[in-house]
Amino acid sequence: MTESQKTEIRVHLNNELAMMHRSDDQGIGVEYTADDIDYATQITQRNLNLALAERASAKATQIKKALQRMNSTDYGLCEECGENIGIARLKANPTAELCVRCQEAVDNGFGACA
Ligand SMILES: [Zn+2]
Repeated sequence: MTESQKTEIRVHLNNELAMMHRSDDQGIGVEYTADDIDYATQITQRNLNLALAERASAKATQIKKALQRMNSTDYGLCEECGENIGIARLKANPTAELCVRCQEAVDNGFGACA
């Protein structure tokens, strides 16, 4: 991976992180209402927001981890087998920690730790 490819990915990750922070303050409170339907709608919306917030926070963690790896020599190397993850895969998924082969093994439930 060249330095400019690395910079491109780094910029992309930083942008994604910045965008996430902007959408952070969606309300997750539930206001009192006498109307059951209103209340149910609020609960549904709240659960949805919580699930989305959880997902965003997991993603943010992945991005921060990827940015950290970029500062070391580990970025772009599979955490499982140490092979190159490959620039095409990293461009599609900059937070990828595993090469395609190891990822497939994990997805199929044959993780190296299992
Ligand atoms: Zn691997």
